[in-house]
Amino acid sequence: MSATTHRYRAYIALGSNQGVSAEALNGALTELDALAETQVQKVSPWYRSAAIGGPANQPDFLNAVCEIATGLEPQPLLQALHRIEHHFGRERQVRWGPRTLDLDIVWYEGVTSTAPELTLPHPRAHERAFVVRPLMDIAPDLTLHGETISHWLKQTENQSISRR
Ligand code: ATP
Ligand code: CA
Ligand code: CA
Repeated sequence: MSATTHRYRAYIALGSNQGVSAEALNGALTELDALAETQVQKVSPWYRSAAIGGPANQPDFLNAVCEIATGLEPQPLLQALHRIEHHFGRERQVRWGPRTLDLDIVWYEGVTSTAPELTLPHPRAHERAFVVRPLMDIAPDLTLHGETISHWLKQTENQSISRR
């Protein structure tokens, strides 16, 4: 009989605006589910959003959010996300520039951190319609920075985003 490890709930934001974005998102979900002690539990619908910040005239992003159950601690989870980004050809160049795949930890059950290498909850996710809108679909009861997802949805309603 194998020991049962505790599984923590976490939300991961996925984004891509370079290459075949649908393949990157689907591939990332498959690789997330294949991580040790990790299952993808829910996947939001996909959204298209205009790039915010970074260089001008970037292509639109394809975005989604997923819920995972994981036995990985936040830091090893982030390392695993970086490996998955790398598999899909992510190169870290311009900050907020175009990318084949971006995976951010939006929220991790029971963990808050102000460390720059891993801030939890993610310090900017709640300001972004492309994270908040899909979270409304799969985690409407989540709170970020003490406010509900519907609160953040109202705050971000001026941002251009559409269901894909
Ligand atoms: P943003 O963080 O504003 O969405 P970005 O995703 O483009 O920007 P990256 O270049 O992908 O930024 O990541 C920069 C660093 O952010 C990463 O190396 C990582 O250590 C750090 N980081 C801090 N908190 C988190 C988090 N919650 N999820 C993912 N990365 C984080
Ligand atoms: Ca990001
Ligand atoms: Ca990132």
